[in-house]
Amino acid sequence: KYLEESSERKRLYNDVIELRGNIRVFCRCRPLNKNEIVSGTASVVDFESSLDNELQVICSDSSKKQFKFDHVFKPEDNQETVFSQTKPIVTSVLDGYNVCIFAYGQTGTGKTFTMEGTPEHRGVNYRTLEELFRISEEKDGIVRYELSVSMLEVYNEKIRDLLADNSSQPTKKLEIKQGVEGTQEVPGLVEARVYDINGVWELLKSGSRVRSVGSTSANELSSRSHCLLRVTVKGENLINGQRARSHLWLVDLAGSERVGRIEVEGERLKESQFINKSLSALGDVISALASKTAHIPYRNSKLTHMLQSSLGGDCKTLMFVQISPSAADLGETICSLNFASRVRGVESGPARKQADLTELFKYKQMAEKIKHDEKETK
Ligand code: ADP
Ligand code: MG
Repeated sequence: KYLEESSERKRLYNDVIELRGNIRVFCRCRPLNKNEIVSGTASVVDFESSLDNELQVICSDSSKKQFKFDHVFKPEDNQETVFSQTKPIVTSVLDGYNVCIFAYGQTGTGKTFTMEGTPEHRGVNYRTLEELFRISEEKDGIVRYELSVSMLEVYNEKIRDLLADNSSQPTKKLEIKQGVEGTQEVPGLVEARVYDINGVWELLKSGSRVRSVGSTSANELSSRSHCLLRVTVKGENLINGQRARSHLWLVDLAGSERVGRIEVEGERLKESQFINKSLSALGDVISALASKTAHIPYRNSKLTHMLQSSLGGDCKTLMFVQISPSAADLGETICSLNFASRVRGVESGPARKQADLTELFKYKQMAEKIKHDEKETK
């Protein structure tokens, strides 16, 4: 009996110290669109039907390039399928992990479709909140969770609050400050408390409307700016009073095309192409994490600075590399897949929880039970 208990404890311990790497890369290929079908465009992306983590790109000289990721979504995979793979990562924010998910890729490949989605095909952002509410209800009585949402845009190294009422006053200038717990804080940023899933869709919609309304050309801005949704989870263990706070970032990055070549120190990222300072800084941060250098240059862009405590280190990171199947996009597709392969090569240490409210509770219960059983046997 005692042995059973101790192997149970061991299992729990292994759950806490997750030994798998904490940077994942999922690839998602959008379907050919109407225009492409009408004009008879060929798909240059091939999927191995029996495998869900490999794809091949047929290059213009008909040679094939193979890529492997943690998961590969085919054009026919729907939002539900995508979320079923994403769910374990996003929901680990409730267990105290800081989590960061970003969609990377050329404009028009489905970054916004994956993260935001449409009213009929809701994306990762909405589904995540729905799931967080469901789980927090389940744990009701053991842990009390408080969820709040912030939404911001980074454009030309300026941060804009997408949930603030910008109509009456000029846009507030937001800056990133170092918080007391070593985290990054944005004083003045709206943090909207959300109580249930009703209303969340409208809230997210209003944020993304602000994102495009403020620009002369909606398409231009949304492909050049990063849209960041932050979910803050505050938890309190009702049995022992322990509290924890963790962040989940859901990021729709600027389009990776329209590139200038940037030489990054370290051979791995040498030929990478990036759209702007933020994407190149993101590449630098990942490169530094990959080479395990002591200094990670988070501060080189607003994007990486903001994500500092949720990127690399103890956190869970998931990148969606979004691609187009069209022959016309072949060059960009190869660039994105190469970038994503390097990201996947990052071997960072195991993710670590900020604090774990439920595990602690389980341990305590178990310890008491063992004590009790020991007394009985005596
Ligand atoms: P991005 O944000 O990368 O610029 P979008 O998300 O705006 O790209 O996608 C471009 C178009 O393709 C949109 O009309 C979107 O609805 C459609 N689309 C993208 N991915 C898919 C998909 N997997 N299934 C169906 N439609 C898609
Ligand atoms: Mg978009």
